Amino acid sequence: MHKGSCLCGAIRFELLSDPGAVSNCHCRMCQKQHGAAFATYASIPRADLKYLCGEDQLTAYNSSGSIIRKFCRVCGSHVEWSGSTQFPDWVSIPLTLLDTAFKPGKIRDIHVQSRAGWLPD
Ligand SMILES: [Zn+2]
Ligand SMILES: [Zn+2]
Repeated sequence: MHKGSCLCGAIRFELLSDPGAVSNCHCRMCQKQHGAAFATYASIPRADLKYLCGEDQLTAYNSSGSIIRKFCRVCGSHVEWSGSTQFPDWVSIPLTLLDTAFKPGKIRDIHVQSRAGWLPD
């Protein structure tokens, strides 16, 4: 079972199944929210994301359309990306939050049209 936490540790969770559909998202919204060239997400059924503590510290931001991005209001770590009308019962979480070792299979690069110019080829 995988466990994860935010930067300050206020929010802790565990995953009841292996996350899948791993992608590096290079969209401008992920770049700005994460303060990084891209964000690496994995998807999991919402029912398999169990908060151990700190769920009440999550703040929600509606970034576009129906998409909700949730982050820790103490440290700013991004925790959830959800609200897809295509996959309403799924949530994506940044792989960087995991404190247990996880080796994804294939990682897809998406929204590469806004790939940061400073990234090495
Ligand atoms: Zn935090
Ligand atoms: Zn993105």
